[in-house]
Formats: sequence, structure tokens, C-alpha cells
Amino acid sequence: MSHVFNFSAGPAVLPREVLVEAAADMLDWHGSGMSVMEMSHRGPEFMSIMAAAQKDLRELMAVPDNYQILFLQGGGLAENAIVPMNLLGRKAQPAVIDFIHTGSWTGKSIKEAGKYAQVNVAASSKATGFDRVPARADWKLSADPAYVHICSNETIDGVEIGIPPDIAADTNGAPLVADVSSHILSRAIDVSKHGVLFAGAQKNIGPAGLTIVIVRDDLLGHALPICPSAFDWKVVAENGSMYNTPPTYGIYIAGLVFQWLKRQGGVAAMEQRNIAKAALLYDYLDQSQFYFNRVASADRSRMNVPFFLRDETLNDAFLAGAKQRHLLQLKGHKSVGGMRASIYNAMPIEGVQALISWMQEFESTHR
Ligand SMILES: *Cc1c(COP(=O)(O)O)cnc(C)c1O
Repeated sequence: MSHVFNFSAGPAVLPREVLVEAAADMLDWHGSGMSVMEMSHRGPEFMSIMAAAQKDLRELMAVPDNYQILFLQGGGLAENAIVPMNLLGRKAQPAVIDFIHTGSWTGKSIKEAGKYAQVNVAASSKATGFDRVPARADWKLSADPAYVHICSNETIDGVEIGIPPDIAADTNGAPLVADVSSHILSRAIDVSKHGVLFAGAQKNIGPAGLTIVIVRDDLLGHALPICPSAFDWKVVAENGSMYNTPPTYGIYIAGLVFQWLKRQGGVAAMEQRNIAKAALLYDYLDQSQFYFNRVASADRSRMNVPFFLRDETLNDAFLAGAKQRHLLQLKGHKSVGGMRASIYNAMPIEGVQALISWMQEFESTHR
């Protein structure tokens, strides 16, 4: 089988070791005679898979004891409705939610939240084409919002908030909610600065279908009456993420990825590798007259690197040549155009080196 480097933004590349292990387990998990897909979620086999996945994620992210880790269905986008339905009950209605609008994903979050609450866009970089994170000093936070929502890695626009902002003093202690879908486990994230973190699994963790929510205990039990029980975090927490059937196979693969991450040296080791990979690619882009990235250097994502050819008529030729060289899924998101290289945890530095070699070759033949 030929080796490829897959730069997809999601669903995305998984560690090869994990896929090999899953393939070996496919028909008979650990002598049980069953595939993980065939097991009762309440049987001892799957319960052990679930417990290990929870424990390993807690360890990898240093999740404090007063936070619950929930494994849900629904995907990241559904959380744009599930979060307000769970948190608005803490406030008199109509409540206000503050948003920092840094790109496409927060745009979707703002739209969805508007069905449940008043929305205050406290800061936005829309006017400059989402090329930066608005300076913290310019955020016009409400005095008492139900919560403040950020997307700490805008997957489409390639903008990352590396350090969670302090908001408590300005907002009467409102919780910070972060969509960490596309950079969870790629860097150290201080969970204790958040009320809620959520992530769809299909970027840095495993297959699509699993959603991870990490929520502080005091934020449970405030769901609006309209919140479906299966998405009421208190109900889910009290039932150990087994109120309804959880996405069992996705949890199993996520568990294998967590074990792989631990073997790599955990999040700190991954962060060092991710810094090196991103630096290689951005340094190359910045010295080039042929390609460019438009995000302010301090706010560039280490995971998703959108870039453009100055001559856009060459895009198709660039992508066709990349594919011939087994560099896959580099086409940019349709809303942004150009190219995008997603370089998640499972992308080795050799993949970034191979991409840069192709970019150099293409430049030298098309300049
Ligand atoms: C991929 C992604 C999502 C999840 O989208 P779903 O298709 O609903 O799983 C949410 N937020 C961000 C930042 C993402 O990158």
C-alpha cells in the first residue's frame, strides 16, 4: 500500500499505529469473540474501554476533579445549541451570551445561539477577514452574560487563541466556554480557566460521531426545560455518559488515540512537535514570494494552515501535482479558497517536509 500524507481538516488523519491495532481487534476484541461494535455498552468489556478512555483523557489534559468529562453524540456544531440549553437556566430570561467572533465557526455559533438568547458580539475580526484575534483590551463584554463563547482554534480561518483569556473580572464571574474541536490535545490547555470545553472528535481524536464535553460541576443542573434529556449534561454525567447509547466505536478509537498520545510523551511532547511542524511551514510561507498566509503571526493556528498561491490560476495544477506525490486533501475551505494544510497530532513532521518540498518544486517550475 502506498504511503500518503493526509492534510484533511476533518475527518482527519489518525495515527497509523492506532489503525493497525483497531484492525487487529476488528473481529475479536481481546478474546471476547466480538467486535467492539457488537458489544453492549453496559457489558463489562465496553465498560472497561469507557473507563480507560475517561481516565486517560483526564490524565492527558490534567482535568481537575471538579470537572466532568462527558462522551456524547451530536458533533461540535450541535453543541452550539446544547451549550445554551444547558447554561441559560442560571440566568433570568432573556439572558445575554457574549461571543468573540474570530471566524467561520464562531459565526455559526452566534447564529445558533440567537435562537435561545440575546447575542452580544463583544469583539470581531470580520472587518479584516478574520486574520487575527481581536485584542483583549477591545473586547466589549457584557456586565453579566450567561457565558462568554470563544472558538480557540478557528479551523477554517487558521486563527488560534493559545492562552485562554481571563474574563471573570469583567463579567461578574461568567464562565468561559471554548470550542476546542480542532486543537484539543495539541497543546496544554488550562481547563481550570474554563467553565466548559467541547470538541467534536474528528479532528484530533478519532472518528466523527463522538463529542467530548468537559464541564465544571457547578454548571450542571441548570438546563432549560426544552433541553433534550440526552443532551442535559447533568443527566449524562449522573449516568456516566451511558444515559443513551454512546458512540461506542468512536470512544474505543479515541481510547486507542489517548494511549498512543501517552506513549508519545503526552500533550507536552505533542505540543513541542506541533510547534516545530507549524514553524517549518510558516517560515517557508513567509520567505516565499509565490505563496502567502494572511493571518497575523501571533494568532496563527498550529493545526490549520490556510495559504494561497499569488497566482490563483495555478491552484488546480498545484493540487494535481500534490496528489501525484501522495499529498492529499490540501484544497482550502470553499469560503476561504486557496489551500489549507491541517497538521494535526497524527501528521508527522515528514509530512510537512514533503509538502514543503512539493511547494518548492512547484514554485521553481512556475515562477
Ligand atoms: C469541525 C469543527 C466543529 C464540528 O463540527 P461537526 O460537523 O458538527 O462535528 C465544530 N467546531 C470547530 C471549531 C470545528 O473545527
